[in-house]
Amino acid sequence: MNQRMYALGSKRSVIREIFEFGKKRAAEVGAENVFDFSLGNPSVNPPAIVTETLEDLLKTKDSAALHGYTSAQGDFSVRKAIADYIAATHGVKTDPDLIYMTCGAAASLTITLSAICNAGDEVIAFAPFFTEYRVFTETAGAKLVPLMSDPDTFQIDFALLEKAVNEKTAAVLVNSPNNPSGVVYNEDTIRKLSALLGEKSRQYGRPIYIVTDEPYRELVYGGVKVPYLTKYYRNTFVCYSYSKSLSLPGERIGYIFVCPEMEDAKKLYLAVCGAGRALGYVCAPALFQKLIARCQGAVSDVSVYEKNRDTLLSALRGYGFTCVQPDGAFYLFVKSPEADANAFCERAKKYGLLLVPGDDFGCEGYVRIAYCVSPDMIARALPAFGQLAAEYRG
Ligand code: PLP
Repeated sequence: MNQRMYALGSKRSVIREIFEFGKKRAAEVGAENVFDFSLGNPSVNPPAIVTETLEDLLKTKDSAALHGYTSAQGDFSVRKAIADYIAATHGVKTDPDLIYMTCGAAASLTITLSAICNAGDEVIAFAPFFTEYRVFTETAGAKLVPLMSDPDTFQIDFALLEKAVNEKTAAVLVNSPNNPSGVVYNEDTIRKLSALLGEKSRQYGRPIYIVTDEPYRELVYGGVKVPYLTKYYRNTFVCYSYSKSLSLPGERIGYIFVCPEMEDAKKLYLAVCGAGRALGYVCAPALFQKLIARCQGAVSDVSVYEKNRDTLLSALRGYGFTCVQPDGAFYLFVKSPEADANAFCERAKKYGLLLVPGDDFGCEGYVRIAYCVSPDMIARALPAFGQLAAEYRG
């Protein structure tokens, strides 16, 4: 057998491990006494247009048109609807023939990195980062280079980035709003990043790509804006997913958009098609391709997440916990009151609180709290957080 695959398959993700523990514990002590903040599974229903469109599509009598294979890169009319939407919303140049439909952001990222990287290349990610980046990068034959963000803000540490980029750097992964910190990069940050990577690309005589991972683009609070990367940096691959914006994570639907202004854009798109083919990711789910084409611009009700964020953030700060203000996504990344975040998570379990240690996000000494849960559960969990904090104070 392939030893790398065996190792990946036999080591369960910490998040899944905690999720399974939660189910077991609920059977022992009652579901109402377990506060599971482990998984990023949207708790808000998809917007009404999703259900209505699905019902309408299912009335179609032509089964092949609905369930049959589409083109390997996705149905043209779907790619056209997405290209038109991006152009109208962000004022950027698009092209349906530079869009590749995928099974969610995980596939978008694996395909893109495989299309760009060669053996020995490096891919930079700003810690904390989504736990699977290492797997995706190594599948592409490259090495993940984690760079710690500024610990006071979780924004990019440009001095570290300047030192880390070298002749082997193929790409920089950007994830804003971020999982797990919830931090959003503003326009100044994106301009600074683009200028630095442009300069380094010239210095090393190779394009350094930005691969922007955007499942949380629409999940922002307080009117915060998320700059659209292709406007600032032409060597950009946008990896998008409807998992969070339309609350459809199990349906596996998303896309890759190759910036038309990229040098050799058409060739790189063909490399994307090749990687999709090599990895077996051809023809994203047909029914959901057709569905999202008719739901462009729709978003689940993010006000629920915003209220959850406000309740939890002010209560946790009141109890003495430290946390950078998250402006998007649905996670809080809280500083552990003891150096070992795993030990902190174990203590939290005593109070029924299931939190995820930050180690797998490339950031020790923190825990992630996924607040995409019911407001009622948050209200019931607050006293448990209070008792946990008191244990440390005491
Ligand atoms: N990237 C980030 C930052 C995520 O948080 C997730 C899922 O939680 C993914 C990618 C994978 O998303 P998808 O379910 O669309 O594959």
